[in-house]
Amino acid sequence: MARAFNFSPGPATLPEAVLLRAQAELLEYRDCGASVLEISHRGADFMELAQRAEADLRALLSIPDDYAVLFTSGGATTVQALLPLNFAAPGQAADYVVSGHWGKTALRQAATAVDARVAASSEGGGFRDLPERQGWMLSPDAAYLHLTANETIHGVEWRQLPEFGQAPVIADFSSSIASEPLDVAKFGAIYAGAQKNLGPAGITVLIVRPDLLEREGQPRAPVLDYRAQAKAGSMLNTPPTWNWYLLGLCLRWTLDQGGVDEFARRNARKAASLYAAIDGSGGYYRNEVAPRARSRMNVPFFLHDPALDATFIAQAREAGLIGLKGHRVLGGMRVSLYNALPEDGVRALIDFMQEFQKSHG
Ligand code: PMP
Repeated sequence: MARAFNFSPGPATLPEAVLLRAQAELLEYRDCGASVLEISHRGADFMELAQRAEADLRALLSIPDDYAVLFTSGGATTVQALLPLNFAAPGQAADYVVSGHWGKTALRQAATAVDARVAASSEGGGFRDLPERQGWMLSPDAAYLHLTANETIHGVEWRQLPEFGQAPVIADFSSSIASEPLDVAKFGAIYAGAQKNLGPAGITVLIVRPDLLEREGQPRAPVLDYRAQAKAGSMLNTPPTWNWYLLGLCLRWTLDQGGVDEFARRNARKAASLYAAIDGSGGYYRNEVAPRARSRMNVPFFLHDPALDATFIAQAREAGLIGLKGHRVLGGMRVSLYNALPEDGVRALIDFMQEFQKSHG
C-alpha cells in the first residue's frame, strides 16, 4: 500500500517532506559523521538544532519573549501530573473545567497533589457541548484554572474563549496547538503533546508565564521542577533528541507553509466540508456535538447502523483512508484533521463516504 491519507488522532500523520528529510539525514546529520540519533545533546550541532526549534515555536505561536518554553518527555499526561507540584501550594484549590475525557484525565492526574475542583463539567450531556460560562463555580483562592482547548476524543473545542476569572489559566492545547492563531498572553501556561499538530510522540511543549515559574510549588525532585528545567534549557537530563529533531523539522515546515494564519484557513475549510457532508447525509452519518462546540481538529461521527462500522473501516482502508476508527469510549468513527492532513485527504474521504452511502444505503 502506498502512503494513505491518515486520519489518526495521534500519533498522527506527518508532512511527507519532513519524513523524506529525516530519511535523507538519518545516516549522517549535516557533517557530523553520525546520525542525529547518535550525537550528544550537549554538542554544538544538537544545541543549535534545539535552539532553532524553540525560536521557530516562538515565531509560529507569537510567544511573548518573557514566557519560558520547555520541551519535556512523558507526554501531556505527565505535565498534567506535574502542574500542581509546580504551580500550586500543598492543599491549595485548583479549578478544572471539564469538557471531555482529557479534562477528566487532567483532573485525575492532579488530584493527589492539589484540591482539584470541578468548576464546570459537560459530562451530564455526554460531553456534546461546552459548559456554559454562567454556571462555572470558580474558587476565589484557586492556584489556577485548567481547561482543555480541544477534546480529542469527544470532538469538542472552545471556538471562543470564555471570560476567565482571577486565577491564571492553564490550557491543554495538545490537539489544537498551531492550528490557528492563539493569544498566548491570555494564559498562565499552555502545554501540548507534540504527536498531533507538532510532530512525533515523545516530546511535549510547555509554555509558561514567568510569575508561574517563580511559584514555590510543592516539594519535588529537581528533575520534575519546571523552573530548574527552564534554567537548564530543558536539559537537566538527556532529552528525547530524535523527537526534538523531528519536532524542529515539523515546525519549520509549518512556518514555510505560511504559519498559523494559513493553517487556520485550511483547517476551517477541511472541517466545514466534512461537517457539511455529515449533516447533509440525511442521517446516514451523524455528529452529535453542538454546532458552536464542534472541533475543527477531531470530528467523531456515527453511521446510522453500527453494524456497518467494520465494513466502513475495511473499505476505507482499501480506498487509501486509514486511522478512522473511533475511540473505544465513543465507538463509531473519528476523523482527525491536523495541519499535516492535506485538503485532498478530506475530499477523498467525503467522496468515499458518499459512495459508501450509495452502495450500503
Ligand atoms: N490531552 C489531550 C487533549 C490529548 O489528546 C492527549 C492524548 N491524546 C493527552 C492529553 C495525553 O497525551 P499523552 O498521551 O501524550 O500523555
